[in-house]
Amino acid sequence: MTGLDELKRRREIEAARIKESMEKALEIHSNDIKEGEEFVAFVIKDQCIGCDQCLLVCDDNAIELIDEPLRTPGIEIEVNKKALIIRDECTGCRLCVLACPTNAIKMIDR
Ligand code: SF4
Ligand code: SF4
Repeated sequence: MTGLDELKRRREIEAARIKESMEKALEIHSNDIKEGEEFVAFVIKDQCIGCDQCLLVCDDNAIELIDEPLRTPGIEIEVNKKALIIRDECTGCRLCVLACPTNAIKMIDR
């Protein structure tokens, strides 16, 4: 059975891989994304699919996944996660913006 240390190690490797590949893929646009302490990440909830990729790359523990009730009654979905930025912890590094597959995160003025 895979131990916690091994899982942590794999997670760190995966985070590094995602970070590298996303930075490469978005290199052309990355200069347009605001960066720095005067900016903070913001999640557009409707675009967030709760995939966890932003958590993997955030080194500052500035993101958590929360349960968000579905707006549509009649559809029962057990897990409906959305990313939430913990503003005070966010350093404005913008890695989450680069990692998000649905463009659900923007950098806004702090
Ligand atoms: S990477 Fe994007 S879609 Fe995935 S949980 Fe984070 S904000 Fe949501
Ligand atoms: S901008 Fe950086 S510190 Fe802020 S939530 Fe995104 S990855 Fe974390």
